[in-house]
Amino acid sequence: MSEGSSNPRRLKLRYPAQCAKCGLPLSAGAEAFWNRTTKEAYCVACAPDETQLITGVPGASAALEGARRADKRVEEARRRYGDHAAAVAEAMASRDTAASWGKGSSGEARLAAFVGKEVGDAVISFHDRLIPGTRGNIDHIFVAPVGIWVIDAKSYTGKVVQRPTGPFWRPDNKVFVGGRDRTKLVKGVEKQVEAVLAAVKGDPEIKGTLVYGGLCFVDSEWGLTDFPFQVGNIWVLYPGALRKRLNKGGSLSRDRMDHIAHRLDLSLPPAAAPRLR
Ligand SMILES: [Zn+2]
Repeated sequence: MSEGSSNPRRLKLRYPAQCAKCGLPLSAGAEAFWNRTTKEAYCVACAPDETQLITGVPGASAALEGARRADKRVEEARRRYGDHAAAVAEAMASRDTAASWGKGSSGEARLAAFVGKEVGDAVISFHDRLIPGTRGNIDHIFVAPVGIWVIDAKSYTGKVVQRPTGPFWRPDNKVFVGGRDRTKLVKGVEKQVEAVLAAVKGDPEIKGTLVYGGLCFVDSEWGLTDFPFQVGNIWVLYPGALRKRLNKGGSLSRDRMDHIAHRLDLSLPPAAAPRLR
């Protein structure tokens, strides 16, 4: 055997295999690492890898979706009524995009910029990732020393109010923003947290990493005495409160954080741009 044969080599698998470390089933043709000596295969998240992380463009898929919808409406107007009507539809569509989708995506972009500026390299950020097998997205994932934060950014205006509910033995909260009950948004974040848990649970090295979910109101008002609160397990917070949690010291080493990030990058692909491989 040649020297260095104990170093796994990157290749395309000719047969299905299973990652010797995390147990992920690997299909024939998949990129993986193969150790000739031990005859073991490793997935690309478990072996050293030169693939660069693609962290996504914040809000890109929301903006893209907005543009796609607008195009569809314009083309429909053209087909049914002609070019003159299409020109009006186009003007109206760009107005709508700016008002709704554009706003949502700019909230995400602003939160991403805020965290980038305030926290910098202390966390590894992912923006706008897909939840495979669903139509859902994740706005932001931050790998921090305390664990993984999954954040849904919302740009509602108005005051954020915590309304206690539930019996005294099982207290919970509802969240109102600008006088409207927004508690349902929590379900969306719970699903995102589940997706992240599914991404890390097979890997013995990072199993048990804490995953926090948060609903971050980027444009809402909070009183000076208001604190972040929980609805079920999900935190309701504002950008400054998130910053504090991301900056907090924790038990994850940088190596461990990189490893988590690499696995998340593979498990939850960027939503806007297709993965280039
Ligand atoms: Zn693996």
